[in-house]
Amino acid sequence: PLCLSDPVETHRICVCVRKRPLNKKEIAKKEIDVVTIPGNGTLLFHEPKQKVDLTKYLDNQTFHFDYSFDEEASNDLVYRFTAKPLVQTIFEGGMATCFAYGQTGSGKTHTMGGDFSGKNQNSSKGIYALAAQDVFSLLKQRRFSGLELTPYVTFFEIYNGKVFDLLNKKTKLRVLEDEKQQVQVVGLQEMPVSSVDDVIKMIERGSSCRTSGQTFANANSSRSHAVLQIVLRRKKALHGKFSFVDLAGNERGTDVSSNDRQTIVETAEINRSLLALKECIRSLGQNSEHIPFRMSKLTQVLRDSFIGENSRTCMIAMISPGMSSCDYTLNTLRYADRVK
Ligand code: ADP
Ligand code: MG
Repeated sequence: PLCLSDPVETHRICVCVRKRPLNKKEIAKKEIDVVTIPGNGTLLFHEPKQKVDLTKYLDNQTFHFDYSFDEEASNDLVYRFTAKPLVQTIFEGGMATCFAYGQTGSGKTHTMGGDFSGKNQNSSKGIYALAAQDVFSLLKQRRFSGLELTPYVTFFEIYNGKVFDLLNKKTKLRVLEDEKQQVQVVGLQEMPVSSVDDVIKMIERGSSCRTSGQTFANANSSRSHAVLQIVLRRKKALHGKFSFVDLAGNERGTDVSSNDRQTIVETAEINRSLLALKECIRSLGQNSEHIPFRMSKLTQVLRDSFIGENSRTCMIAMISPGMSSCDYTLNTLRYADRVK
């Protein structure tokens, strides 16, 4: 149902939803699919045909987003409608940001990272690699080659309000804000890259650091936000920056049954940062003078993304279509609905 031409009009904020297919486990359990995407950005959260007590959800609910991608959509298609239109922004001296939001297992990392290089059989590249390809092809274009831009990559994780450098052995980094409200992550490694392969190597290095390694912060990668940035500098000075954010799973926002202290602290921090993010994107959309970026470490570190004439953002909210994910899916849809 999706029209396959590239989007003509580009918004300052784009909010989309991507539904993943039911997985083998869900199919084996005969789970019912509760999400239908009829097209034109519309998404239907509905009662299944079989008899299940869904009184909690009352009626069918309809949502409208800039785009809604069904289970047939490839990473490539999703990329073309979300992050791709933002690549040029960073060449024009602006800030671009792409967020992947959703519960654990809904497809955030699949969408962002994919198989990184896409070299394995039947695998596909994710937004990281697809965007890197476009960045390098634009760098070669005559209209931008005169700017003498140099690309760099940073990759870090925010866990429990603390920042860890994924390209430097998970070193814990300090975040400083000066009088002019400029935010700096002190000591963050900015690695020079000269090809798409270089970027993919950094992603692989950072991702393996994310899920292995010694520090306590690797406990559970779904509890942290991962931020990959492609930075363009012009004679050392910042020119533009594209941030790709694989957000922490939002699922425990509704889970109050845990008594584990660590989990409660983590959950509170994740909730705070996701709430802050929503507020900041909304402020950006309203061209508001006041951006509440200090509400969380995530939004503080991404401050640049929410200010300036030329800042653009897209959010892709991922959903699992199975009946057992109902609560989380509805939560995600409501969050995405309110961002814009
Ligand atoms: P998350 O990062 O949100 O926790 P993942 O990206 O790790 O979720 O996805 C969980 C599983 O579902 C992975 O095995 C992934 O390959 C698969 N998956 C996610 N989205 C899709 C999709 N659109 N098509 C096919 N498989 C998917
Ligand atoms: Mg993930």
